[in-house]
Amino acid sequence: MIDNAVVHHLESDESGTIREVRYLDPAGKEHRLSARRVVLAANGIETPKLMQMSVNAHTPDGVGNQNDMVGRHLMDHPGTGVSFLADETLWAGRGPQEMTSIITWRDGDFRSEYSSKKLHLSNMARTQQMTTEVLSETPLRLGAELQAQIDNRASRFVQFDSFHELLPEPSNRITPSKKRDALGLPRPEFRYAIDDYVKRSAVHTREQYARIAQLMGGTDIAFRDEFSNNQHICGTTLMGDNPKQSVVDRDCRVHGHDNLFVASSGCMPTVGSVNCTLTIAALSLRIADQLEQEM
Ligand SMILES: Cc1cc2nc3c(=O)[nH]c(=O)nc-3n(C[C@H](O)[C@H](O)[C@H](O)COP(=O)(O)OP(=O)(O)OC[C@H]3O[C@@H](n4cnc5c(N)ncnc54)[C@H](O)[C@@H]3O)c2cc1C
Repeated sequence: MIDNAVVHHLESDESGTIREVRYLDPAGKEHRLSARRVVLAANGIETPKLMQMSVNAHTPDGVGNQNDMVGRHLMDHPGTGVSFLADETLWAGRGPQEMTSIITWRDGDFRSEYSSKKLHLSNMARTQQMTTEVLSETPLRLGAELQAQIDNRASRFVQFDSFHELLPEPSNRITPSKKRDALGLPRPEFRYAIDDYVKRSAVHTREQYARIAQLMGGTDIAFRDEFSNNQHICGTTLMGDNPKQSVVDRDCRVHGHDNLFVASSGCMPTVGSVNCTLTIAALSLRIADQLEQEM
């Protein structure tokens, strides 16, 4: 383990074998490493950026990018939300576990019209948020009255979020930017659009939010219709049998580079409607099995 090492180049030979990994230390000094096998695990954003940055005479468009597929099909789970005060005390925030999610809409005939999704019930303690809210109001409440208001709102506050499935769209892409970071390396640049398939689903999600709020006797209902990201980066090093349409094979080995693997949610060709990290773990175990067999 070498900490604070920022890998910025993979040097490939004419056969596609990765011969060298180059990294910068915090002072900007370059170091070089070689290995029989190389596994990229720098997240679904940095990994495709690094692959596209790794240009030489043998890889003029970057490592694994001979078919212009690296960084494409960027997916996340665009999310909307709702919050309200329930008609009874619930006290979200007891313990670290999430309480529940609604996965009823992870699949069904509706998917021919709008995307699948998960609805997620937040389990955050709202004491601080409600204290700030009550103190911002006039007339100013203090003492027992302040305490009563905080208790009343924090105990009844409910928030749902959603994870909508975004389809793999080639034009949604991560590329190295002309803008530079502190080490002088390209920052990632995004092209990312949310299509009507998701927007139609969000309309249905809003109806479900309203229904849930009604069932829980909700008041002070606030919808959050603007899409937010959910940090589940998929598709950017997409898995497939056909090298013309994908970046890695079923063992997460990069097409055209026999000793290079990618361990990332970027390998997922679709994003589904639930969090991706357990799938990253499963894919990483698959790579480990493969490495064990080969070495
Ligand atoms: C706020 C938040 C909440 C989340 N909640 C959930 C959840 O509840 N459930 C779930 O399934 N997922 C969740 N996720 C997503 C989850 O964190 C990611 O899917 C997961 O961490 C991705 O794992 P990874 O190993 O691919 O990348 P990372 O965990 O991002 O690890 C990549 C590593 O590579 C390093 N790195 C990057 N570039 C370079 C470079 N050039 N050189 C050297 N090192 C480099 C980074 O420093 C980092 O340590 C959440 C994410 C966020 C941000």
